[in-house]
Amino acid sequence: MTAPPAFTTLLSPLRLGAHTVRNRTLMGSMHTGLDGLERGVERLAAFYAERARGGAALIVTGGFAMNLEALLDDHGPRLMTPEQAHALRPIPHAVHAEGGKILLQVLHTGRYGKTAQLVGASSIPSPINRRVPRTLSTAEVWQTIDDFVNCAELAMQAGFDGVEVMASEGYLINQFTTTRCNNRTDEFGGSMANRHRLPVEIVRRTRRRLGPEALIMYRLSALDLVEGGAPAHEVIALAQAVEAAGADVINTGFGWHEAKVPTIAYLVPRAAFRFAAARIKRAIGIPLIVSNRINTPDVAEEILASGDADMVSMARPFLADADFVRKAAAGRPDTINTCIACNQACLDFIFNGRPTSCLVNPRAGRELEFLQMPAPKAKHRVAVVGAGAAGLACAVTAAERGHEVTLYEAAPSIGGQLNLARAVPGKEEFHELVRYFEARTEQEGVQLRLGQRPGADELAAAKFDHIVVATGVRPRSPRIEGLDHPKVMGYADLLSGRRQAGRRVAIIGAGGIGFDVAEYLLHELAPHGAENSADHGAAEGVGAFFSEWGVDTAPDAPGGLKPPLSPRPLRSVTLLQRKPEKPGRTLGLSTGWALRARLEQRGLQTLSGCTYERIDDAGLHLRVGAEARVLDVDTIVICAGQESETTLADALRSQGLAPQVIGGAELAAELDALRAIDQGTRLAMTF
Ligand code: NAP
Ligand code: SF4
Repeated sequence: MTAPPAFTTLLSPLRLGAHTVRNRTLMGSMHTGLDGLERGVERLAAFYAERARGGAALIVTGGFAMNLEALLDDHGPRLMTPEQAHALRPIPHAVHAEGGKILLQVLHTGRYGKTAQLVGASSIPSPINRRVPRTLSTAEVWQTIDDFVNCAELAMQAGFDGVEVMASEGYLINQFTTTRCNNRTDEFGGSMANRHRLPVEIVRRTRRRLGPEALIMYRLSALDLVEGGAPAHEVIALAQAVEAAGADVINTGFGWHEAKVPTIAYLVPRAAFRFAAARIKRAIGIPLIVSNRINTPDVAEEILASGDADMVSMARPFLADADFVRKAAAGRPDTINTCIACNQACLDFIFNGRPTSCLVNPRAGRELEFLQMPAPKAKHRVAVVGAGAAGLACAVTAAERGHEVTLYEAAPSIGGQLNLARAVPGKEEFHELVRYFEARTEQEGVQLRLGQRPGADELAAAKFDHIVVATGVRPRSPRIEGLDHPKVMGYADLLSGRRQAGRRVAIIGAGGIGFDVAEYLLHELAPHGAENSADHGAAEGVGAFFSEWGVDTAPDAPGGLKPPLSPRPLRSVTLLQRKPEKPGRTLGLSTGWALRARLEQRGLQTLSGCTYERIDDAGLHLRVGAEARVLDVDTIVICAGQESETTLADALRSQGLAPQVIGGAELAAELDALRAIDQGTRLAMTF
């Protein structure tokens, strides 16, 4: 057996100003939405303390506004008074009790604000906010600097170890540092030194007010990814200027919120933007932190050992697993619940006004709620039938709570629908979820019965205390004449590799799986053609990603952009739905736009308002509105949703038993891994 990786660099301490952090991990800032809830500070304290207990060396809170104009919305977190500072004290206290350190992020949202009083460097609105900002007067800019410093001082009074000055992602400081939205003629506009004056003065005056003990981190936009963004030499000059002004450490951000390049979604290759951090690292004397799509200790260790950065920032990975560091240090990285970059329960929840959580870890953000679950009274014998997402979550949680769990799965391996998801290009992170469940079932002693489909009699005879039915779904067969034509296949046949598609394909059904199938089919590129560059040859990897999204690694590229190059796929694909609306409404808020844009670039055709008539040798006969059409295609893939697989549950009930039915077996509509894992975990907490 090979020895587990040691993660020597990742786990080594690091000096940051007057502080030493116990390892090289930073839990980066996230909007949590917890602050606005009842017992918000208590929830935040529990949330951060759990991450510190799991080994996160340094934590940065979500952003706090230093004045009313800085607020993202009227209810956003703020730190403007000693009373507010006092109320926050439990947060640093809880983190310190677990051996961690914590900084408060000071954030001015500038022209991104959703308030009546929004301001900016100039009156230039952002493309993602219809409100026009009022230009700050020169005196108001100096006042804003004072407000930053006052907020930092209040953070220290609250017990934080210091502050992160938020100057990336396109917020106010970025709006001053670039020409994109700064056309001022005073000392804060024009020359580079003038545009950099706001952040430099914030750091200089904060250091002067707080003294050497406070840890000051500067979150630098290493790559703006917007037109009119800063070229690398300006980014480096700013890094050097804030170092000289007194910053202890530079953290990095990539892409403004209005950027048209995805920077954290699953389709971004891991650590894709490290090149931009590395060139800053080479130009400064203080430590540098790299971020974005770093989600395993292997990736983190490799970056740190290469010298590209001194520390890694991981935000979502600490939502997915609070014990990330502890498990890596214990030599069990295989038991880390890895962030799959889906954004479904973190960012998408926040965009929908809900507090953040995590698809793979429903406990995240709900630490107090899960604490209230009663401890098991006795060891129960639990049968779980179906090792998809719902069954796995239930089995592992029940076993973790001390119960004796037998997990049945008809297939030769675990994973269920997760195995289809991981076949989709860009969704490879789902491999990690299956790997996690494999390791955890083994670690918790779940008795795995693969290739077994127990009947109701067998389960009844075994006298389990609980029978959980997680038998999942079966694909829906729409009523279309000719569905048995050899051109037709189900999505599972295609994604599992059992069948191959031809060059011209129609997809019936434009839900999440229809889009996944389109991605799968359009991934393979035509062998020749000018558009398919050397980078595109592999159709994957960082080079291909940069080429397709127009990311320029050359240091003189403003904002790090160049014209994108559309690859030419092997197939032509048409995605169909009956509803008249534009397809893709059900895709994730923070990932759907990128997926739609990528598929459009790859030539995906969509048709809405379809009525399917029949399938024959000529292809798919349909009506689009009133117009009759025939799609002359080689393959028709059915992605028309699913129905619950209830055979076992029905048989158990007919024997007078009361199985607990979860996941797709309970409700096929809107089934996804998010609901399945949440439901499985919560059920197991009741045993
Ligand atoms: P779905 O989202 O329910 O979509 C099914 C599609 O089939 C719809 O476009 C529907 O639209 C069409 N349809 C339904 N009944 C039909 C019929 N009788 N004949 C023809 N067309 C029919 O299901 P799914 O795509 O299979 O996805 C299943 C679950 O997995 C969803 O909850 C989804 O959220 C989740 N998932 C999510 C993602 C993601 O990116 N977040 C990816 C994959 C899966 P019309 O009725 O208008 O034709
Ligand atoms: Fe990561 Fe998805 Fe969890 Fe967000 S919801 S932390 S992206 S796994």
